[in-house]
Amino acid sequence: MAAQYFYCIQCHKKYPTHHKLFDTLYDFSKMAPEDCPACGGTRELHVNLDFQLGAGDGDFKVVSAFLPGKLESWLGEGEEEVTFYPFLVVLEGGANGKQFCWMPYWHVVGKEARYGQHAVCLDHAQFESLIAQVQDKVLEPV
Ligand SMILES: [Zn+2]
Repeated sequence: MAAQYFYCIQCHKKYPTHHKLFDTLYDFSKMAPEDCPACGGTRELHVNLDFQLGAGDGDFKVVSAFLPGKLESWLGEGEEEVTFYPFLVVLEGGANGKQFCWMPYWHVVGKEARYGQHAVCLDHAQFESLIAQVQDKVLEPV
């Protein structure tokens, strides 16, 4: 479904990663990509995604990726531990070059990461509006 690569902003070389999208985003949320092995330049992470929305499909730069500080785990079928990884990824690109929030998620069962098909896409203003409403509710005296 998704292809990812590192892009050197100095020599413009592309380096495909052979990791899964989950591993690539997980690593990116923990540390910046290593510098370009050819020229030492800074490398960006890009993903190719088809959101099937018409406009803006294609190549996106991953600006940042976050996971909650505390992940939730529970025992699933066959007493196997399931951990939920809800990412908040800021992407840039597409037809209008704007930044927006993409929220893909995985359930990791044992060593297998299962991709949730219904990732949310929102622009910053929409996302901030939702978070602001949650915070308003939390702060309201009961
Ligand atoms: Zn380079």
